[in-house]
Amino acid sequence: MTLPPEVQSALKILHDAGFAAYGVGGGVRDLLLNKKPKDWDVTTNAKPEEIQKLFPKSFYANQFGTVTILTTSEDPSLKEIEITTYRSEKGYSDQRHPDEIAFVSNLEEDLARRDFTINAIALDEETVVDPFDGQADLAGKLVRAVGNPKERFAEDALRLLRAVRLATELNFEIEPKTLAAVTQYAPAITAVSHERVRDELIKLVKSDYPEKGMNLLKETGLLALILPEVAEGIAVGQNRHHIYTVFEHNIKSLQYAATYKYPFHVRLAALLHDIGKPRTKRFDKKINDYTFYAHDIVGSRMAEKVLKRLKFSKKMTDTITHLVRHHMFYYDVGKVTEAGARRLLRRVGKEHFDDLIKLRIAERKGSGVPKAEPYRLRHLQFMVEKAAQEPISVKELKITGRHLQELGMKAGPIFGGILNALLAEVLEDPIKNTKEYLLKRAVELKDKNPDELKKLGEVAAQEEELKREEDIKKKYRV
Ligand code: ATP
Ligand code: MG
Repeated sequence: MTLPPEVQSALKILHDAGFAAYGVGGGVRDLLLNKKPKDWDVTTNAKPEEIQKLFPKSFYANQFGTVTILTTSEDPSLKEIEITTYRSEKGYSDQRHPDEIAFVSNLEEDLARRDFTINAIALDEETVVDPFDGQADLAGKLVRAVGNPKERFAEDALRLLRAVRLATELNFEIEPKTLAAVTQYAPAITAVSHERVRDELIKLVKSDYPEKGMNLLKETGLLALILPEVAEGIAVGQNRHHIYTVFEHNIKSLQYAATYKYPFHVRLAALLHDIGKPRTKRFDKKINDYTFYAHDIVGSRMAEKVLKRLKFSKKMTDTITHLVRHHMFYYDVGKVTEAGARRLLRRVGKEHFDDLIKLRIAERKGSGVPKAEPYRLRHLQFMVEKAAQEPISVKELKITGRHLQELGMKAGPIFGGILNALLAEVLEDPIKNTKEYLLKRAVELKDKNPDELKKLGEVAAQEEELKREEDIKKKYRV
């Protein structure tokens, strides 16, 4: 068990100048667990100005005693090391930021202000300093607050989520008193900024056991506060096709997406894909069972709200919302024609198709009653790969608005109408995508009235689809 050379040499520079210095925090924790650390922290009795003098390549851009030094390492976890002066923290009137920090002279006091025992172990070349028995908790796989858990969560509400996130990443349990305090202080999470909540959620979702994390959020009451839309699914039963509640199904889908190492946005789409179900649940006497008509549309609108609130990027928000919107696509071997596959691809977009298949796989596995879906999905993938070779958008037609002008037509909305009508034909039969054929058809179409044209182009323009979506959103007031 040795510190990485970059950390060792930083410690040596401080030691040679007469200061005490130790590796500390998540770096030490992960090293002791034989895991690869994400970043490294050093704690020292040197003051920020003294640290800066010893490390010419460094910057100090905060009021909390943390100097960041730059190393020559290629390893992203070691390119920067954070060196922080021993400090204590006083007063947290906003439940988030210490009103005051004070530099202190001994290591134990610095360790005492840290959140969890497993994060409060200091290590240099020879010594382990572990006043809160963090090593015992590493062995026992426990996340335990340093000192009095209630006080620690009352000071800083972010620690509530850090407890859940760490337990999830490490696959540890939260020690019972600490867990009780998380539950008691959960309401304070609303004092934490959406960005910080988001960053912890991202780490949780990217971990290997996100289902565990979601259950911890649920048990502690944090879920209802940070993801109320997901919490709506708790205890909401489905119908005879499902064995899990809506919530269980969402988090199990997320878990499969993690198990299969799918990318982050697919994981989050899996978590959110059925959040529209509680609001759309209706009993249908004819089939004597519940239905969730339009839950994909309602759910995509809810997902958009969640992601905007948590300040995800526009691109991430759009991608995930789109996946939730289209997760219900119908596919049946033998029933879906090649033209059907092209229309599906037109609706979903080539760039999203792979993700949508991944979402479907995770969702099927997460239903607990997987049908013979894998074969169907492989078949669909094959069909779609073929379809992707064919034109599915107006841009891919062999004629453009310019050609219509050359036919003596006047530019205007009619161009869109004609091109969509032509695309509808080409989606049906790609052989028709030749300049000759399309020009001939354009001449025939140019005198049609707008309503007729619209009808012909409907499949391609997806107007019907969009209108239906708007109506449904209005109806469910989302
Ligand atoms: P990660 O593996 O995500 O880097 P980490 O535990 O190292 O997790 P950092 O944010 O890098 O988290 O913080 C480094 C150390 O600083 C922690 O291990 C802990 O000792 C201390 N720390 C961080 N945030 C808090 C907090 N909110 N309250 C108390 N101590 C904290
Ligand atoms: Mg860290």
